[in-house]
Amino acid sequence: MAKNGSRKSQATITAGRRSAGAAAKLKSPRLKNSTKTARSVSTEPTAVAAPGEVQSKRLVSEKAERFTESVIREMTRQAQFYGAMNLAQGFPDFPAPAELKRAAQQAIENDVNQYAITWGAKNLRNAIARQAKAWQGMEVDPEKNITVCCGSTEAMIASLLAVTNPGDEIISFEPYYENYGPDAILSGARPRFVSLRPPADPAGEWTFDEGELRRAFNRHTKAIIVNTPNNPTGKVFTRRELQLIADLCQQHNALAITDEIYEHILYDGAEHISMASLEGMSERTITINGISKTYSVTGWRVGWAIAPAAVSDAIRKVHDFLTVGAPAPLQQAGAAALALPAGYYQALAEAYRKRRDRLVPVLDEVGFRCFRPRGAYYVMTDIGAFGFENDLKFTKYLVKEIGVAVVPGSSFYNDPRDGAQQVRFAFCKRNETLDAAAARLRKLRIPK
Ligand code: PLP
Repeated sequence: MAKNGSRKSQATITAGRRSAGAAAKLKSPRLKNSTKTARSVSTEPTAVAAPGEVQSKRLVSEKAERFTESVIREMTRQAQFYGAMNLAQGFPDFPAPAELKRAAQQAIENDVNQYAITWGAKNLRNAIARQAKAWQGMEVDPEKNITVCCGSTEAMIASLLAVTNPGDEIISFEPYYENYGPDAILSGARPRFVSLRPPADPAGEWTFDEGELRRAFNRHTKAIIVNTPNNPTGKVFTRRELQLIADLCQQHNALAITDEIYEHILYDGAEHISMASLEGMSERTITINGISKTYSVTGWRVGWAIAPAAVSDAIRKVHDFLTVGAPAPLQQAGAAALALPAGYYQALAEAYRKRRDRLVPVLDEVGFRCFRPRGAYYVMTDIGAFGFENDLKFTKYLVKEIGVAVVPGSSFYNDPRDGAQQVRFAFCKRNETLDAAAARLRKLRIPK
């Protein structure tokens, strides 16, 4: 049955025990006098505070109290603290392509220092449109359909803020990339979840129940978020699955927001299909992507949203007031990245396949049950054999005593119990890192 988001995840979406404590310590902020401008937005009339009201005012928003900091990013800090191998956060520890670095250097040398056009430098938007056509046959107008953002992270939250109204529901498959939960809360929407079920045979595919998906859609559904290839499961949605989702979106007049950031990282002959390339879907799909993963530059913060013109207008406005624009010289490097030849992408996928096939057998050998990814660069595992009460305890033990940082499974679920016997490994690392992690993991013991 579709869950309605009322039970909050211990890991990410939580009542703010920590935050409430932190809020108590905050000093009163220095409030600036607001300056009215010709474009000021409408405000409520100023209310006169009752005695005592000023002191009891909550200085932290109710929204911000409903989720914690990212567990994934926290695991990177723990890896640094304990000197552990970081197989937690999804960033490569190997160099970016030389062509990109040269293009970024050149752009700075050429004094590309000022704001780009707020929705993205023209040559980058042209390159994005060209690639969308070449890879997915999508007709994208770079003048109307594209908003370049600070990473696909901003593209997602800007999109959600641009399309949701109070009372709207956003469906996500779970386990889900942890940002989607807070994203839904920040945009004021109600998250709903549809389970992705692990395969009985670890070499099989994660699947969802068609009935559960159908029941999740209703008159409040504004959008469904689909992440394919998927983090954390490695699932690559099939054409049949995407068609079912597309049919439901059309039937319920809902949007599809697809996070396709791992589009080029595919294994075992899996094929990436963009939702927007399906019949009738370009009018109701926001396609999110970026250069972070495909070109190994997660810190450069260049991503984008491709959307129908009217939706694009709304995304552009939100984006403008969130960040104005993505880093201008790195947008130039992004344009150079998108001009790399097709062979680059084949080599990328093949290099990741080798890394997957280097790590997964070790994990199998030491007692993890690995669900074989068909795409992206993570492997979700079952830790039942190790006899730990939950994923948080196991993860703590792993980072502190064994020296390997991973992500606790519960951070990918609305109800932490659903991920209590899972952890996620990232294998976007050098062979040396994977081998060092393997040597440490071999110290793990399965209780007799
Ligand atoms: N979407 C997914 C599914 C991810 O796994 C990640 C990073 O791990 C992101 C988005 C973040 O992308 P970006 O660096 O473009 O903000």
